Amino acid sequence: MSDRPHAAAGSKAETPAEARTEGPDFIRVLIAKDIAEGKNGGRVHTRFPPEPNGFLHIGHAKAICLNFGVAEENGGKCNLRFDDTNPAKEDPAYVDAIKKDIRWLGFDWDDREFHASDYYQQLYEWAQHLIREGKAYVCSLTEEQTREYRGTVQEAGRPSPDRDRSVEESLDLFTRMRAGEFADGKYTLRAKIDMAAANMKMRDPLMYRIRHTPHHRTGEDWPIYPFYDFAHGQSDAIEGITHSLCTLEFSDNRELYNWYIDNIPVPSQPKQTEFARLNLTYTIMSKRKLLRLVEEGVVDGWDDPRMPTLAGYRRKGYAPEAIREFCNRIGVAKYKGVVDIQLLEHCMREAANATAPRVMAVLKPLRLVIENYPEGQVEEIEAENNPEDPGAGVRKLPFSREVYVERDDFREDAPRKWFRLAPGKEVRLKHAYLVTCNEAIKDASGEVVELRCTYDPESTGGAAPDGRKVRGTLHWVSAEQAIDAEVRLYDHLFKDPLPGGTTDGGDFMEDLNPDSLEVLRCKVEPSLATAEPGSRVQFLRHGYFAVDRDGAKVGMPVFNRTVPLRDSWAKLEQKLSAGGS
Ligand code: ATP
Ligand code: MG
Repeated sequence: MSDRPHAAAGSKAETPAEARTEGPDFIRVLIAKDIAEGKNGGRVHTRFPPEPNGFLHIGHAKAICLNFGVAEENGGKCNLRFDDTNPAKEDPAYVDAIKKDIRWLGFDWDDREFHASDYYQQLYEWAQHLIREGKAYVCSLTEEQTREYRGTVQEAGRPSPDRDRSVEESLDLFTRMRAGEFADGKYTLRAKIDMAAANMKMRDPLMYRIRHTPHHRTGEDWPIYPFYDFAHGQSDAIEGITHSLCTLEFSDNRELYNWYIDNIPVPSQPKQTEFARLNLTYTIMSKRKLLRLVEEGVVDGWDDPRMPTLAGYRRKGYAPEAIREFCNRIGVAKYKGVVDIQLLEHCMREAANATAPRVMAVLKPLRLVIENYPEGQVEEIEAENNPEDPGAGVRKLPFSREVYVERDDFREDAPRKWFRLAPGKEVRLKHAYLVTCNEAIKDASGEVVELRCTYDPESTGGAAPDGRKVRGTLHWVSAEQAIDAEVRLYDHLFKDPLPGGTTDGGDFMEDLNPDSLEVLRCKVEPSLATAEPGSRVQFLRHGYFAVDRDGAKVGMPVFNRTVPLRDSWAKLEQKLSAGGS
């Protein structure tokens, strides 16, 4: 169990208006004030302090954008500090993944990569200092007794029988704890503060525990490990951090943070300020829970595109700019809310719209034969790559007598306003020609397996020669030249907007969406044969997709759906601005 506080999920979904912040947020206001008052000599130095016990998620992106952002804006610095005080859960593989993800987001800590474990010796000496000052003692209560003695919110705690142990004895025992003389759990080191304090964190908090567990950086050097509270503020002070920004669940820890800073001869005086953590609908964010999804094989690893990890978003095709824009738009506040995931998807669409080349892919192919088109003829048709970007140029598309269209674009019994394919209906094949459906061929089971059509040879580029109105425009691929591809359609990993309910107690596993992944065998235009893993395209009428690294394994290109085209967020915003609210 980690000694850091856990955040409980909020319960209210933010409306778009609340999600937008006007002017600088309260942290930027506070920093501007500190600079104006000449605090810290006008310096701004922040840090991002991940615990290397999992991959970074979208909530961490908020903290990264904030910490690196305010430093950058004020000509300051932001350190990367691994908060590695819990050897049992930490792994160097996580350290590497975290660094990769921060760089991918577009931030850089230069040579300022630090680890709380770098400070173990200094922390140890400061612990001795507190003992000598009569402000810390070695305690022999068990974990359970310690909890019991601490009391409750209503009731004061009781002093440990070791509270008045002499300085000499505590110093001796602490030295022997450090030397590895005692078994795990035999003793702890505690600060001597106030067992009746209203803030439970101040009731003689634990500073050190005995753990004969090797650490990924310090090996077997230390059989004792500091608790988060005894490490964090002092690490900030050692690094000259001016503004220690963290999430609201650390509010109660602030008093203790300050107590250590005030009672230890630290080289600087950092200040902690808390902001609300990001919660997103249809998403769980706790690394503990994400780890469970990985370990139980619910997802294909930490970078499964359904995971809210930065590695997952990257694999799904998200652009780092989109995530930064999202963090910018949600802003920073003390208000605990749940942000609508549609805002994130909206930011991604905006980023992709400008840059992703438009291509054609038929996800559920149905053969369409153009009976009056010459057999064996292949035409090269010119198609623009991105109407949003004239500089993106054009490409050639093969067109022939047999093409694939989308199965869902044909209806035998079409409703009145159906502008797609149906017997007797004329449609436009994008960039190519107008075709009219004459007949649907069915197999023995009655399923439509082929459409028989004729085309208008005069309708080059899809324009009607006589100006007649053809409303439907469909995407297609030439049957012979199209290539096979695997397409992975992702939906939310959870079917409930607040997985596990509004509190931390619920079982999020019960809310898993059984349809979060649909894998299709598709036909895509031949230009995609050489698409590089990681590159992004728009499949016309379907959405944005990214090329997955699994292509080599599967034996054909694999595309992950980044985000569908439908943008309910944009509609909401339009409605709001039209309504004048
Ligand atoms: P989790 O509870 O998801 O495991 P954590 O807080 O234990 O996350 P850390 O690695 O300790 O994870 O977090 C590093 C920094 O990121 C901390 O300063 C923390 O406050 C911040 N952070 C973590 N989750 C969020 C979130 N959802 N929104 C904003 N900041 C977050
Ligand atoms: Mg945690």
